Order: sequence, then structure tokens, then C-alpha cells
Amino acid sequence: MAKKKKGPRQIVGLQCTECKHFGYVTEYNKNNEQLKKQADGEGTFPISKYCQRCRKHTEHKTLKKLK
Ligand SMILES: [Zn+2]
Repeated sequence: MAKKKKGPRQIVGLQCTECKHFGYVTEYNKNNEQLKKQADGEGTFPISKYCQRCRKHTEHKTLKKLK
């Protein structure tokens, strides 16, 4: 049984911005993301990841929030 987790961890999908391939599901900590935005002015995403369809590293953006 999957237990519902409490806390700031947010699960999102990552989509290649070049071919729109949906390749990753990841989770990140919303609190850390906010701190990072305040510190650097930009967040974790878009993030450079290897895309299997493009066969190279491309920018991936968050596609949507998953449960
Ligand atoms: Zn791609």
C-alpha cells in the first residue's frame, strides 16, 4: 500500500523541450526550491538531462504535478 507522504516533496514529470519526449519523473523539495529562487533568482528547472529520443542532453522542464 502506498502511503501518502506529508511534506514539501513534490513529484513532477520532466519533459524534453526539444522533442517533447516525456522521459523522467522526479521529485524535488519545494522548500529548497524556494530558497534557491530567493538566493539565485532562478530555480532548479529547466534542468539539463539526457533525452533518449534526442540522444543528447537537452533542457527538460517540469511537465505537470503528479500525485
Ligand atoms: Zn528530446
